[in-house]
Amino acid sequence: MTFALEPEGAAVLAEVAELVGSYGREEILALRAEVETLGAERHAESFHRELAKRNLLAIGLPEPWGRSAGPTERYALHEALDAAGLPTYSLELNETMAGMIARRGRPELVAEHLPKLLAGEWTYAGGYSEPEAGSDLLALRTRAVREGEEYVVTGTKLWTSSAHLADWIVTIVRTDPESQRHRGLSILVIDAKAPGVTIDAVPVVGGWRVNAVSFDQVRVPASHLLGEENRGWAVLSQALTDERTMSFGGRESRLLLARLIHRWAATQEDVDDVRAEALGDLVVELEIERLLNLRAAALGERGEDAAAEASISKVFGSELAQRTAEWVDAVLSTDVDKGCHPLSTDVDKGCHPLSTSTGAGPAADPLIADAGQALRTSTAFTIIGGTSEVQRNVVADRGLGLPR
Ligand SMILES: Cc1cc2nc3c(=O)[nH]c(=O)nc-3n(C[C@H](O)[C@H](O)[C@H](O)COP(=O)(O)OP(=O)(O)OC[C@H]3O[C@@H](n4cnc5c(N)ncnc54)[C@H](O)[C@@H]3O)c2cc1C
Repeated sequence: MTFALEPEGAAVLAEVAELVGSYGREEILALRAEVETLGAERHAESFHRELAKRNLLAIGLPEPWGRSAGPTERYALHEALDAAGLPTYSLELNETMAGMIARRGRPELVAEHLPKLLAGEWTYAGGYSEPEAGSDLLALRTRAVREGEEYVVTGTKLWTSSAHLADWIVTIVRTDPESQRHRGLSILVIDAKAPGVTIDAVPVVGGWRVNAVSFDQVRVPASHLLGEENRGWAVLSQALTDERTMSFGGRESRLLLARLIHRWAATQEDVDDVRAEALGDLVVELEIERLLNLRAAALGERGEDAAAEASISKVFGSELAQRTAEWVDAVLSTDVDKGCHPLSTDVDKGCHPLSTSTGAGPAADPLIADAGQALRTSTAFTIIGGTSEVQRNVVADRGLGLPR
């Protein structure tokens, strides 16, 4: 399998290289600080608008909205931005939503949303999980009742990333009260500021903020339906597969290792065999992670079912990101000498408390602080977008054809 970029992809990469080159170290650090202030995972508003200005949001959309680049080009774009330490979460989220709206929205909805979305003016969140429906998403209970030209939505979504920053929440609801499981579900694009919408913060480890979103008799125009009524599961499952073809922490892990190697080279560190071997193993595994992601992206590009491959890359990448962060943190952390576990909260022993801010590590050393932060944020990678256990079930079912 080859991963050569089409001419459009090469052009996109040249534009990304120019964009990356236009950001100095201080500007990148300021962006990262903005991400922290917003309390959302890697969402930086100013950089989001810069991507929009350069026509790099939703490059994978068909003409006239996008640039028809495939998933391989899209992956290459994210890889280049991550390698430079620039924030990409907002890009990922809005690419997914742009794809759902452009492909499945009514013409008037598409005409209203795509220009605003691609100009970076409107941002989106995905409201799928609920308090009693996470891994088993099909147990969701948020309901929508059709009343004339509107749906009336009632229910609660949980863990909704970026909802507090978003203008719209793409929400999966049950429209047929008699239905079970994947039948009778629909997707609505709901105004995050509509009367009856309440958004409460849910802090998670690493300083991220997710949200509990409750809908109390929220009125949504029927034209905000994506796809057909009661057939929303097909729309969402494709979007979830697309999401899983992206890297869950692998690209950030490569950056962390590169910074460590750079430091060791600069200080002429005497790296013993044990550390050298462990470093070599991680570098090899990160290259495997990259190829797994590209394989899933390439299959998607050819229109083939990539569900199992996307789950394989998600499990491997997210677990590898945790191991990489743990290793880099242990190698760098002075806590190791005190016998602290990397996630220790034993302050009496002199360990760093488990913090919800990047300031947890010794502030004077940004690499140590970032390694500690990677350790905390990577804990979520094996949960977000579907847990590792659920991904393994997908591999067994869709990939190996094993009985349930
Ligand atoms: C930081 C973060 C951001 C998130 N962002 C969003 C978002 O933007 N939008 C959104 O809709 N959701 C979001 N989520 C929710 C995420 O998708 C769910 O947390 C995830 O799907 C797990 O669901 P749950 O938390 O309800 O756990 P549960 O489903 O209750 O699972 C509990 C445990 O049981 C295991 N388990 C469950 N079922 C099985 C099974 N069949 N076989 C084996 N083991 C099983 C799980 O692996 C897990 O270990 C986010 C989560 C996090 C942590």
